[in-house]
Amino acid sequence: EVRIRGAVKTYDGIRVLDGIDLTAPSGQVTVVLGPSGSGKSTLLRTVNHLERLDSGYVSIDGELVGVRVHGDRFKELSERAILRQRSRIGFVFQNFNLFPHLTILDNVVEAPLVTQRLPRVEAVTRAKELLARVGLEDKAGAYPRQLSGGQQQRVAIARALALEPRLILLDEPTSALDPELVGEVLAVIRELARSGTTMIVVTHEIGFAREIADHVVFLDEGRVIEEGPPSAVLDRPRHDRTRAFLGKVT
Ligand code: ATP
Ligand code: MG
Repeated sequence: EVRIRGAVKTYDGIRVLDGIDLTAPSGQVTVVLGPSGSGKSTLLRTVNHLERLDSGYVSIDGELVGVRVHGDRFKELSERAILRQRSRIGFVFQNFNLFPHLTILDNVVEAPLVTQRLPRVEAVTRAKELLARVGLEDKAGAYPRQLSGGQQQRVAIARALALEPRLILLDEPTSALDPELVGEVLAVIRELARSGTTMIVVTHEIGFAREIADHVVFLDEGRVIEEGPPSAVLDRPRHDRTRAFLGKVT
């Protein structure tokens, strides 16, 4: 379970996260929606401690992220401890972020080899299984530039899974793709959702959100405006701002 409490983040005096409370239950899919600039990416990044909160905290399965309690305040963890926590969280970006100079197989093998010190044979076996799972076992020897955007994003998902994370964060995983490539990536995410992986997904694909979400959160101006099951938030939104947003994107 991911628990975000009182999360505040300011940039240049502007509260980009303005006191966010949010719980993403284990084994469930939490979908975060909201207009551009509402703080969705910032929120995901704080879960991974890529951004430091000004106040509030994030915990995963009861463990504080990036900090420890020191007297009556939080103290930053060591870089090593933060990396260790991060290695248990998969992050899938809008723009894939594969290593261009590594083959598809090595992109997936890299983290378990380096972070978990898994023997290469085992890391390769695991990577091949994951590539098969995303339908790309035949691309193991190719380089990212030789793949379509949809294929690259599927590799990025396989790579995120390689460390057997307890949580996967996906930030608009299909928004950089040509429309005809969106479906294949959504299919992989759908399969992950069915397998009971804990996920927080930022997406503009409302139909997809309705299908996979257990829990939907609507953000605006750094605040949670509305949350609940998809049937409530997406089909019977209570707030004008949610309604206006849904009217625009669907
Ligand atoms: P989008 O849908 O366009 O991706 P978002 O909801 O993900 O938007 P964020 O990227 O979280 O929005 O940004 C929220 C606000 O914080 C924006 O106004 C943005 O300009 C600002 N912001 C984000 N990162 C930084 C930064 N590193 N420095 C200064 N301002 C930032
Ligand atoms: Mg964003």
